[in-house]
Amino acid sequence: MRIRKKRNIKKNRKFEVKLIHPQMKKKIWLSSPHMGGNENKYVQEAFDTNWIAPLGPNINEFEKGLESYIGEDKHVAALSSGTGAIHLALVQLGVQEGDEVLCQSFTFAASVNPITYVGATPIFIDSEQSTYNLCPVLLEEAIKDRIAKGKKPKAVIAVHLYGMPYNVDAIHRISEKYEIPIIEDAASALGSEVNGQKCGTFGDFGIFSFNGNKIITTSGGGALICNSKVKKEKAIFLATQARDEAPHYEHSHIGYNYRMSNVLAGIGRGQLEVLQDRVLARRSIFETYKEALKNTPLQFLEEPVGTYSNRWLTTVVTASYAEREKIRLYLQNENIESRPLWKPMHLQPIFQKYPRYINGISENLFEKGLCLPSGSNSTAHELSRVIKVLNNF
Ligand SMILES: *Cc1c(COP(=O)(O)O)cnc(C)c1O
Repeated sequence: MRIRKKRNIKKNRKFEVKLIHPQMKKKIWLSSPHMGGNENKYVQEAFDTNWIAPLGPNINEFEKGLESYIGEDKHVAALSSGTGAIHLALVQLGVQEGDEVLCQSFTFAASVNPITYVGATPIFIDSEQSTYNLCPVLLEEAIKDRIAKGKKPKAVIAVHLYGMPYNVDAIHRISEKYEIPIIEDAASALGSEVNGQKCGTFGDFGIFSFNGNKIITTSGGGALICNSKVKKEKAIFLATQARDEAPHYEHSHIGYNYRMSNVLAGIGRGQLEVLQDRVLARRSIFETYKEALKNTPLQFLEEPVGTYSNRWLTTVVTASYAEREKIRLYLQNENIESRPLWKPMHLQPIFQKYPRYINGISENLFEKGLCLPSGSNSTAHELSRVIKVLNNF
């Protein structure tokens, strides 16, 4: 008995030594929440006034704040997620079972999933090299081909990926020419601009996400940007179970439970106050990486003339898949999180069966690209740790 006990102690001691190994450096995250300071105050107000519901003063103020930030006479409905916002945009555009929706392939699955919620078919379009976003040439080719095959697409979902604006001029010219509405996925592009106009305001509908990793967060949430008050009210109606005007519960539409909570909108109000700082911080992180790594073969994505990116995540393109993986694992070994660029939707097992118009650009970016830690709360010390590792590599 006694001997066995002693042995166990010895074993435990060995284990302890491993845990406090000096190699265990503090984790550096890709992008983590960054509170401004007043979030607590607004959340406390919600508690003090008992507005613990999907309506209340914080929601109204958060929406007003977003509307005045993006301008262009837009009307914003605060929702429970960016995904829900895309879903409601499709519903309001009347996209139905059997319809086709053109969608940027190089994106997060949340851009595409709602197309399937309404029973429509996603058609994937590849990217252009200059923005990593929707290629205008392929988009027009796809529209012509779908029309020739007998079905005009009902909508286009265009994405400002990693905060970099897509080619707004070219894409919207095509949308007007063929009269196909655009849902502008600005989930990660709050604060980005084209010719001084805020992303999210170009489409027939726009969407933002306030998920925990985005440039500002409500821990989870989103918004639908509408070009009329009527469409905003319709969005809120749909997002709150589609209750008709009546003292009892009367329904003549299918509804959803997508409204943002007044408690979380309190976080949003506080975050909105520091949005400009967050954009500047992310842009400065990009510049720091670019300058410090200029003597490496890593390639950075430049802003096309007239565009302003919030630089949500700094991305680099390496020489090859093998090198990308070596760098990623090398960073991981130093407890630094990095991530390959999005795997294109047309390569995802669940989306294999859908039509696609492909030029190879998104596949190449997926193979060789890497997102670097870009949180606005990264310290100078943390950034220099990442840079040192990359330069050593
Ligand atoms: C985050 C994100 C979404 C989804 O937003 P949620 O609020 O997480 O539902 C959609 N599209 C893109 C490009 C995103 O980055």
